[in-house]
Amino acid sequence: MPELPEVEITRRGIEPFVIGKTITGVAVRNRDLRQRIPRNLASILVGQRVKRLVRRGKYLLFECDAGSLIVHLGMSGSLRVIEPGTLPREHDHVDLVFGGTALRLRDPRRFGVVLWKDGDAFRHPLLARLGVEPLGEHFSPEFLYRASRGRGVGIKQLLMNANVVVGIGNIYANESLFKAAVRDVLAAAIAAGGSSLRDFVQSDGSPGYFQQHYCVYDRAALPCRVCGAAIRVSRMGQRSSFYCATCQK
Ligand SMILES: [Zn+2]
Repeated sequence: MPELPEVEITRRGIEPFVIGKTITGVAVRNRDLRQRIPRNLASILVGQRVKRLVRRGKYLLFECDAGSLIVHLGMSGSLRVIEPGTLPREHDHVDLVFGGTALRLRDPRRFGVVLWKDGDAFRHPLLARLGVEPLGEHFSPEFLYRASRGRGVGIKQLLMNANVVVGIGNIYANESLFKAAVRDVLAAAIAAGGSSLRDFVQSDGSPGYFQQHYCVYDRAALPCRVCGAAIRVSRMGQRSSFYCATCQK
């Protein structure tokens, strides 16, 4: 599932192809994502110029003069740069055409979002109540301490609560708790993904998400990279929590 680092890498990968470009065409082959894609999306978008591409949590905002196109990659979405007219494959639901290039959304599980918001996208109901950015200036040990007061939840649930801090899913919550360092883990993941930027420019192929070298996530029974003890796994609801019982108190 794309988490904050993957979305940020996507933003960096596609940014050079969309900034300052005018949308010349929109193709929607399947409107049934997590929220239905508006019927009039093409008539809203065609002719608009993308001024900025902003990430807020796991949302990508294509800021235009009149408002913003809001895109969320859901559980399985990916965006890539293609040549217009490239034959769509199954799950290639949306194309945004910018003259001689196009951006294609593939989303097999269809939990993604493609919406338009007039004016300030940050006021859209999906974004208005989002918590702080984990790589922003407001996220600090003091912030996390204050946010944890009066809440009877585990630290992992707190980190994964998008109303407190955005963009941390199960993978990076596990990794951050092992290292006791959210920002370091996210920054390292983004740095690791930097080498995959070129993967966003190809007409075919699997999603360009980089392979990661996890410390605990998905490593049940494998030796801890620090102390060698077997990584343990416990299930809370649908989520698996991976941890080293020796290194993590
Ligand atoms: Zn250990």
